[in-house]
Amino acid sequence: MTTSLLLATALVVLHFWWQSRYNSTKEALSWLRRERDQLEQERNEIRKEVGSQQNALFDSMIEGVLLLDEKGRIQHANQTLLKMFGLTAERAVGSTIMESLRLHELEAMLHFLEHKSRIMGSEVNLPGQEERQLSINAVSVKDAEGIHSGFIMVFHDLTRIRQLENTRREFVANASHELRTPLSMIKGYVETLIDGAKNDHKSLDRFLLTIAKHTDRLTLLVEDLLSLSKLESETDRLDLAEVSLVALVDGVIEEFSSKASKQGIQLNNNLPKNLTLQADENQLRQVFFNLLDNAVKYSVTGSHVTISSKPGLSNLLEICVEDNGTGIPQDALDRIFERFYRVDKSRSRESGDTGLGLAIVKHIVQLHGGTVWCESIQGEGASFFFTLNTALSA
Ligand code: ADP
Repeated sequence: MTTSLLLATALVVLHFWWQSRYNSTKEALSWLRRERDQLEQERNEIRKEVGSQQNALFDSMIEGVLLLDEKGRIQHANQTLLKMFGLTAERAVGSTIMESLRLHELEAMLHFLEHKSRIMGSEVNLPGQEERQLSINAVSVKDAEGIHSGFIMVFHDLTRIRQLENTRREFVANASHELRTPLSMIKGYVETLIDGAKNDHKSLDRFLLTIAKHTDRLTLLVEDLLSLSKLESETDRLDLAEVSLVALVDGVIEEFSSKASKQGIQLNNNLPKNLTLQADENQLRQVFFNLLDNAVKYSVTGSHVTISSKPGLSNLLEICVEDNGTGIPQDALDRIFERFYRVDKSRSRESGDTGLGLAIVKHIVQLHGGTVWCESIQGEGASFFFTLNTALSA
């Protein structure tokens, strides 16, 4: 009896002991489960944050970036790349290169990357309304076990650099051509003098005068080229000071007065007397000098050249140099500000013009925050307008 009682008691105690162990184990398990879920959630949040940081980084790049999986399907394309190819992320992600970018060269690069680890600076033309030149770097990505897991492609847009290279090349070719003409004339006359013409006094004088004329032309060309290159290298260095426009223009008119009066051309300064603004005085003088030089050069006897101004939009002052000379044909109006562009090439070269005067004007006006343009009716004259920012401060 006692034994059975003891046994029953022991069984009851054992039951409660197991019950309490079971409960505490269950609690521990559910705590562990909760911890695991929380950890998983935190990990997901971190993953999401890293992902969005990565996307923000990719999207801030000026290069186009393309991430592809091991089968060549697009996993991510940054904003620059989408813009380059005119795509949306929805269309690009999940598609192959041929489905969305449609460039055989890119597909060939992926095949190449199956055997090689990287491709550097491969150039591809992107057809379209405006053809673009792209340089592409691409790598094949491997995971920790060395198994191929995808590709990364980085696209640099070279179009602007190529355009600049072309402009520079054209400029060097034009400048060399312009320099060669007076040089070959000088060489020709010097050789003729050496060959005996020096003994004939009449020829000697005539040839020396021609040599002097071409030397002047060379000097003018080199001076204008130097001015342009100086303006380009000092992009935002203006020597600003308070300038009285009317006094500055009076000074320039003075320089042309004898030439103008010989040709019967009247020069009028109609600028308001008390007009002052912050500008680089020497550069602004050069603008008026070049415009007046042209106005006098292309004017006819009995005509007049007038300089006037009126307030423009916001802080701009609009200045006009107007003549009633030969004028400029409509189709040349957009081109006259290009370097070395001349409407009448033979007349211009003969008179020693460099074709750089208006390019210099445009540069200086732009440095002052303004724009320059021309309106003209051929045979009736030309009006050159430019704006100056009156709110510049030293
Ligand atoms: P250039 O040294 O030949 O004068 P510019 O750059 O000053 O070079 O001018 C470019 C061309 O614009 C000139 O060759 C000329 O054909 C035309 N041009 C400029 N100003 C005038 C003007 N006031 N009237 C007529 N044509 C002009």
